[in-house]
Amino acid sequence: MSSRLHCITAADISTAAEVIAGHAVRTPVMTSRQADHLTGARLFFKCENFQRVGAFKFRGAYNAIAQLSEAQRRAGVIAFSSGNHAQAMALAARELGVSATIVMPDDAPAAKLAATRGYGANVVIYRRHSEDREEITQRLAAERGLTLVPPYDYPQVIAGQGTAAKELFEEVGPLDVLLVCTGGGGLLAGSAVAARHWSPGCRVYGVEPAAGNDVQQAFLRGEPVRIPVPNTLADGAQTQQVGRLTFPIIQDCVEGILTVSDAQLCRQMRFFMERMKMVVEPTGCLAAAAAMNALLDLRGKKVGVIVSGGNVDVDKIGQYLALAGEN
Ligand SMILES: *Cc1c(COP(=O)(O)O)cnc(C)c1O
Repeated sequence: MSSRLHCITAADISTAAEVIAGHAVRTPVMTSRQADHLTGARLFFKCENFQRVGAFKFRGAYNAIAQLSEAQRRAGVIAFSSGNHAQAMALAARELGVSATIVMPDDAPAAKLAATRGYGANVVIYRRHSEDREEITQRLAAERGLTLVPPYDYPQVIAGQGTAAKELFEEVGPLDVLLVCTGGGGLLAGSAVAARHWSPGCRVYGVEPAAGNDVQQAFLRGEPVRIPVPNTLADGAQTQQVGRLTFPIIQDCVEGILTVSDAQLCRQMRFFMERMKMVVEPTGCLAAAAAMNALLDLRGKKVGVIVSGGNVDVDKIGQYLALAGEN
């Protein structure tokens, strides 16, 4: 199977690692005796909740902007996102001296709007119910000569996201299994390319919310599947369709896609707080929940788990923990 068919190779991940060095955090790898005891495995949690802006997205955003041409950087970048990609783009652009325009919906949480503006981005608000964000973004990009950096379907973004798994293999050596959450598939695709190169033989699984299993459906059918906006607490994985560039990599380099329920995510959030003293957002709990709920037989295995982010509305944590008791 030739990785030349894919939009990135391990060499692109190595380049990304050099580009982000000294700018992105080399996040810690944590372990838990309790987690190992419950699963019978040795689990290594790569903690991107401690990344800048609180999620791995900073890796891809910084790598993408840094590799634009001088002319593109002078003109500025544009992105649409109400989530972690918005903040990642805003901060990465500011650090690279590039102006960023972020298109956000009128119902985005005030805290996210403020954070994105706080990083110096020019925020353009659109009406979620009556306007099409992609059309607005394309129009602004054309009018102002801005370069669009999408959240996952972009080679340098995928390569940047792959640096987290590369660091994990460098730190703990080869793994038997790697579990990675998936929305549009940028983190999963980047991780899978990294695994094939730095830990050949490692089986990589994607993990999705059960309520929004479009990647699983696509994987089984062999073509992208479009689903309605899923109703799940895992807002970072609420995508409706896997990426055009990420999907071929997932098909080729990933073993399978697992799903977990929102209640399992809430129980995982609780575990992280209680046992590991970490705040992890619901989407960031996906991969760990797959491991801890024995969706695979991990006994005796050395297992990597990517914890993708920690941006949770602290006022809602009580509600989440209450849901942990449900099925
Ligand atoms: C964006 C995001 C994801 C999903 O990443 P994709 O590359 O779209 O699959 C998962 N977790 C968090 C915290 C995110 O911000």
